[in-house]
Amino acid sequence: YRCCATAIPFCGFAAAVRTLRGLSRSKRGRWYVLFREETTMHKDLEKILLTREEIAARVRELGAQITADYEGRSILLVCILKGAVTFFSDLAREIKVPAEFDFMVCSSYGDATDSSGFVKIRKDLDCDAANKDVLIVEDIIDTGTTLSRLKPILEDRGAKSVKIATILNKPSRRKANVTVDYNGFEIPDAFVVGYGLDYAGRYRNIPYIGILKESVYKARIL
Ligand code: 5GP
Repeated sequence: YRCCATAIPFCGFAAAVRTLRGLSRSKRGRWYVLFREETTMHKDLEKILLTREEIAARVRELGAQITADYEGRSILLVCILKGAVTFFSDLAREIKVPAEFDFMVCSSYGDATDSSGFVKIRKDLDCDAANKDVLIVEDIIDTGTTLSRLKPILEDRGAKSVKIATILNKPSRRKANVTVDYNGFEIPDAFVVGYGLDYAGRYRNIPYIGILKESVYKARIL
């Protein structure tokens, strides 16, 4: 009994210490407590790259930056389905200027983990982009092929301005020239899933971003 009485409070304290990842300070000077999510990490992931707290803090910063840049104007937010949907809905709620929503589906990947370099618009905007300040919201910019083709299309439709926001950016993989106006995180060359990003239609609902185990996609290719 005495042994249990000593061990229980100690185990509780040890578990709390194991859970905490430490304090992190945002660029705007606020402090955040980050929690380790290793205990709940999906079995198909090699590691967690960005926790939900880190993502939320960065999305708040991007929203504040966009709000300041578009002050006194309204904005057309264009979500590139399906991967950007989680980022889009979080970001939109951090933007405090009037915003219209529209959605596009572009494909360049299929089920593979490398770009085919080919972009097809499978669902176009419902609204007219002419005379609007358009902000394209993307999940990840990899080779840059998708956005280097999409941006001029929207500019040709008479948009007042076309800017790009992405939660992830892999500059080391770039093949096409793209200016990223609002950049969430620069990440290394690895295939990531979660926070809307999929592999073969799976993993989109993981609330953090992680690197997919190579064995998962190798097993499918073989
Ligand atoms: P890009 O045209 O810039 O090469 O590719 C953009 C698209 O490729 C993204 O919208 C996304 O669908 C896909 N993509 C690129 N890298 C990754 C990745 O690491 N993980 C996932 N899930 N998709 C990726």
